[in-house]
Amino acid sequence: MDAAATTAAAQALCETVRWFASRGYCPATGGNFSRRLDGERVLITASGVDKTALTPAELLPMTIHGELLAEGKPSAETGLHLALYRRDPAIGAVLHVHSIANTLLSRIDTPQRLRFEGYEMQKSITGNLTHEAAIDLPVLDNSQDMETLAAALEARFEEAAPAFGFLVRGHGIYAWGADLASARRHLEGWEFLLACELQRRQLETTR
Ligand SMILES: [Zn+2]
Repeated sequence: MDAAATTAAAQALCETVRWFASRGYCPATGGNFSRRLDGERVLITASGVDKTALTPAELLPMTIHGELLAEGKPSAETGLHLALYRRDPAIGAVLHVHSIANTLLSRIDTPQRLRFEGYEMQKSITGNLTHEAAIDLPVLDNSQDMETLAAALEARFEEAAPAFGFLVRGHGIYAWGADLASARRHLEGWEFLLACELQRRQLETTR
């Protein structure tokens, strides 16, 4: 990827990040976002920056093996992004946000996965052609140790792959795609489904 293409890739990632941040998905500088540049390199958000005003200067180039290619401090959750890029060469972008729905639903009754069926929005996840099929979103236990989380992901990657994502309990969601646009569609779709499910459960308990 030449310099002009890298600049365009950085600007497009920033635009996606600002879109999510402006809708409340990145409270308190939370969330982290990355995209692949080529077989060996990615761009990832720096640690602790305000995502609503993210600029390309706040993205850091790294190799998928963890070597930082510029000055700066990458996101604390960089290790999980890199594990995904190493695991699957077809992954082009990884997006991670914290929302009320993804934080709460992964905690209630400590599920190992959340099942969705009957929602038209399931079709936003690649490979899902009908609301009539069920789709599972895996839930991994949270850890501050990225190696522990990466090992947990590795153990359940075959389950996470068709969902293009997974939840981290009490923490947030990771979603990915073959490119930035599909990663964004998957994240938007999952967040819509999670918000629906949270409200459905609230309605059921008050009925
Ligand atoms: Zn997080």
